[in-house]
Amino acid sequence: MDELSDGIRRVTLPLPTRPGHVHAYVLPSEDGWIVVDTGLGLPDAREHWADELAGLAGDVRHIVVTHFHPDHVGAAADLAELTGAPVAQGRLDYEQCELVWDAEDWDEVLVSWFRRHGVPDDVTDELVEQGSLYRPFVRFQRDPERLEPGDEIGGWQVVAAPGHADGQLMLLRDGVLVAADHLLGRITPTVGLWPASRPDPLGDYLQALEATAALEARVALPGHGDLLGDPAGRARELIAHHRARLGATVAALGNAPRSAYEVSFPLFGDELKPSARRFAVAETLSHLERLVLEGGAHGHEENGVVTYTAA
Ligand SMILES: [Zn+2]
Repeated sequence: MDELSDGIRRVTLPLPTRPGHVHAYVLPSEDGWIVVDTGLGLPDAREHWADELAGLAGDVRHIVVTHFHPDHVGAAADLAELTGAPVAQGRLDYEQCELVWDAEDWDEVLVSWFRRHGVPDDVTDELVEQGSLYRPFVRFQRDPERLEPGDEIGGWQVVAAPGHADGQLMLLRDGVLVAADHLLGRITPTVGLWPASRPDPLGDYLQALEATAALEARVALPGHGDLLGDPAGRARELIAHHRARLGATVAALGNAPRSAYEVSFPLFGDELKPSARRFAVAETLSHLERLVLEGGAHGHEENGVVTYTAA
């Protein structure tokens, strides 16, 4: 556990795939500690957390899950068992958490979704297989306390951060923003359109970034990578990044209809592994759908396959 400023502790947990780690944060609160995010539910997650929390004076009062992605929600049930503290998660986020992690037919949902966006059948199998790798390591907490943006928990304000995940939440107190995967330093958070996500995640994200810049936080604690000393500046960089990517997406379209899968090649390159291609297709799609809403592209559907042309 690392000690940061403002009495905050950081716990860095291992991930078997890139970026290789995820940060959880242990925050001081009015009545004890708040643990934010839990890491993957790896077989040793509980012992790992027991070691990390061993030196902590005082009780863990709340466990907050920022969003339902496996590296954030995965060990929530382990941590709740270990500490006896209740888990709190966003209302919308928990709905999506149950939808994705409880669904027995989720792989089939993904198969038809990738097909619909132009992914060839042999590639689809690989992409879906990659998506189930973390499934055994998700042990979320049933029926957690539900949070909404604007709530307070232990003196921390709950702030909406949709885009990377529709229902992602952040915590804010005294200029310290626990940013989860809303703001990252060296990498840009993935913003993808997935089955069961809201229709315009990139539009949600751009709006949320504007709101984040207006918070004037002095430091942001991200889910991966180093602390961010200029959260508003980083939010504006991410807006500029996605505006440039929208331009590149238009440039990759022409008069001939192209699927999100096809457009993902000029945008993300030809050499991606299946694990990365999944995210490339989803992210290309979030940009294409934003362009349709902004009048820069047209969407078409023929024989169950969606394609796009420049407007
Ligand atoms: Zn995430």
